[in-house]
This record gives sequence, structure tokens and C-alpha cells, in this order.
Amino acid sequence: MLYVENLVVDYGKARALHGVSLKVNQGEIVALIGRNGAGKTTLLRASTGLIPITSGKVTLDGTRLDGKKASHIARLGFTHVPQGRQVFADQTVEDNLRLGAYSVFRDKKKVETNLEREFRRFPRLHERRGQLAGTLSGGEQQMLAISRALMSDPRIVVMDEPSMGLAPVIVMDVLKAVQEVNCAGTTVLLVEQLATAALSIAHRGYVLQNGRIQLEDTGESLLRDPDLVRSYLG
Ligand code: ATP
Repeated sequence: MLYVENLVVDYGKARALHGVSLKVNQGEIVALIGRNGAGKTTLLRASTGLIPITSGKVTLDGTRLDGKKASHIARLGFTHVPQGRQVFADQTVEDNLRLGAYSVFRDKKKVETNLEREFRRFPRLHERRGQLAGTLSGGEQQMLAISRALMSDPRIVVMDEPSMGLAPVIVMDVLKAVQEVNCAGTTVLLVEQLATAALSIAHRGYVLQNGRIQLEDTGESLLRDPDLVRSYLG
């Protein structure tokens, strides 16, 4: 579904990605793991048109994405849940969700149907539909950020470190929600520093180090890989 081929990204004179290739098949959760500064966010931002690439190719079902604007890429069904959640703090939960429906907003009935679907998926958001998003807990804000992305019926969602800043027990809730979203039909590219947690829900995983893919395998095999265990999982 999504192919990233030989992606090179530079920040001025500093090269952040040195020819990265990965693929995400329809229906998969693919985990991209790596330490701080490995280039995970750069890869996501470059694939979704938020920063320019130096060379390489990104395609979604055969359509070239590189060189396209982020808004165009989002309309093609490729949505980004940014790092740090970035919900609209001064708006209610419901308004945040409605703002996520940009690709279907002309179809009022569709917006309502999607809103009801998201409230069924995340009952906690339903209970808090009138509450200002900035007053939600960290875990609830992460659920809202994911749910907002789903309002536009994306085909694939990339999530940038959904565990960031959350207590371990809440991380497991969020990852369970990611798994449920995937089971309901959305393909997921999950970027995480928490390697074990991410690989435990991923069909496949890639390990990024210093802007290069070092390992790729099924989530299960990576969790048992001695090199990975030594360098990442302790
Ligand atoms: P983290 O897990 O800490 O978010 P990451 O794996 O997502 O890290 P990136 O944020 O993609 O890593 O950073 C990759 C490299 O690119 C790092 O060396 C970083 O310092 C550099 N970098 C990132 N953004 C910029 C920028 N706007 N200008 C210059 N260098 C940048």
C-alpha cells in the first residue's frame, strides 16, 4: 500500500535520512522504532509532505506522494497523528473531532455518522464530548488525537510516538486502542521509542538507527532478535 524507497532527507548540510526504504501492506500495523534522533519523525514528516525530501520516492497505491502538499496527501487518505497530540485545547472534544473531518466535511450526514462511530469506539470521548480538550488527561488527549484522525476515513494513519509522556498503564490502553483501530480496517504505521510495546502489537517492524534501517522482520521475531534485544530492549 505504502512504499518508501531510498528516501534521503537533509536539514541544511546535515543528512537525517540516508536512503531509507520501507513498505506497509494493507491491513498491517508496522512499527518503526529507534532511539532519540534516529530519524523517525523526519521519515513521517517527509512521507506526509510536511518537509521536503532530497531524493527518493514515496507512493501510496501507486500514486506518487513526494513533492505533493500535505493537504493533498491527507485527501488521498494518508493521515498523520502528530507527536505531542496537538489537540485544539480551547475547543471541545466534539469540535476537535468535527475539525478532523476535513475530507468528508461537505457531506453533513457522513460527518454525523463518523462522529457517532468515533463515540462508539471511544466511549470516554462520548462522555466528555462537551469538555475542553485541554482539560482532558494525557491518555484521553491521545485517544482524541487518534479519533480526530479517523474522522476523515483515512486508509492509512501514521502515529508519531503515541506513548509520549504517558504512564505505562495508559500506554497499554492507547496501544490497545491502536490495535482495535487496525482490527476495524485502518492500516497503521506506528512510530515509537517504546520498542517492546510497539512490536508487541505490530505485524512487522523496522529499526531505524542514525537515519538508516538496521533491521526489519515480523514484530514477533524482532522481539526475539538478540541484536535488537542487546541494543534496544536491554
Ligand atoms: P525523537 O524520538 O527524539 O523524536 P526521531 O527519531 O524522531 O527522534 P528526528 O526528529 O527525525 O528523530 O531527528 C533526526 C535527526 O535530524 C536528528 O539528528 C535531529 O537533530 C535532526 N533534525 C530534526 N529536525 C531538524 C530540523 N528542523 N533542523 C535540523 N535538524 C533537525
